[in-house]
Amino acid sequence: MQAVRLLRANQLELQDIPEPEPGPEDVVIAVEACGICGSDRHMYAGEYPTNPPVTLGHEFAGRVIATGSQVQRVQTGDLVTGDPNIACGTCPQCRNGRPNLCANLTAIGVQRDGGFAQYLVMPQAQAHKLPRHTDPVHAAFCEPLACCLHALDVASIRPGDSVAILGGGVIGLLMVQLCRLAGATTIILSTRQKPRRDLALQLGATHAIDPQARDAVGQIKAIVPQGADVALECAGVPDTFSQSIASVRRGGAAIIFGVMPQGQAVSIEPFDLLVNEIRLEGAYLNPLTHARAAALVASRTLALDSLVSRIVPLAEVPAIIASAPAQGEIKIIARPSL
Ligand code: NAP
Repeated sequence: MQAVRLLRANQLELQDIPEPEPGPEDVVIAVEACGICGSDRHMYAGEYPTNPPVTLGHEFAGRVIATGSQVQRVQTGDLVTGDPNIACGTCPQCRNGRPNLCANLTAIGVQRDGGFAQYLVMPQAQAHKLPRHTDPVHAAFCEPLACCLHALDVASIRPGDSVAILGGGVIGLLMVQLCRLAGATTIILSTRQKPRRDLALQLGATHAIDPQARDAVGQIKAIVPQGADVALECAGVPDTFSQSIASVRRGGAAIIFGVMPQGQAVSIEPFDLLVNEIRLEGAYLNPLTHARAAALVASRTLALDSLVSRIVPLAEVPAIIASAPAQGEIKIIARPSL
């Protein structure tokens, strides 16, 4: 079968490799769609730990074509989305209900073979069924959505809240929709590209601001003078990190979601955090949220087609991952059938 293999940092190739066989607890799927994520670019560059040689792709969905002897949760022909993060279930963090912080976390498409391939094998516990008629391209959004749902859980957004979302890539645009569903009544997206600001307004943002036009925090406070109840940092750059703290009200929450390179430091004033009792918290991966993401995709509640910039065959994946995102690109989905 064809698979996009990371051989070492900066070497990613489409190769022919043997098809996977299921163990007793495994399912094999024919991959129907797999999203390209910014993390794939970090893995390619050697900035995120992987286990090469390995097939990348952690935002995948496909049709079950074979099951191991002990598999009962899914059947041949089912459409499934895979939760890529396999927690051990026995370490102190897992036993404390924090599987995303598992000491032995193994991720499909990172440390073991993933979804930029014709076929993929995973433990049945990672597979979540979707209605058979679900568009596989929509199904490929379950993984990023599950991470966003965790961020909303951490933020504890309440109906009537105001939220500032800093960064309008695919994550920021999913957050806009989820905040709307959560009942936020003021949703401000800050992003530099105008087409993304326009799209955010169509997707449910009440305001879209350009952080380059004027000071972003000043623009947010012109809309919510006391500051937003919640800021979701979704760009992973120092500016938005600082803005997330400065744009929330006293007693508000700044949730860090974007990934900054390991080792990068940002200055903060502890005094501000202290006297304003600002809750500064990270939201990492998708602990126990994948099933809810699958339910949301199955319900067709979210506008996902407008987030898809291109659908490409596997052969185009190495060059896309090896280059910086094109201007205007939101989400590229690979389909092995093309
Ligand atoms: P992305 O496509 O890179 O989008 C981030 C966007 O932020 C950029 O495209 C850019 O859009 C905007 N931006 C950059 N600088 C900005 C600034 N100074 N002010 C406002 N906006 C700015 O990334 P993504 O896929 O949406 O993901 C967002 C972040 O979440 C990434 O860092 C990703 O690694 C991370 N992530 C985290 C998790 C987790 O579990 N925590 C899971 C998935 C992804 P404009 O050009 O329009 O400004």
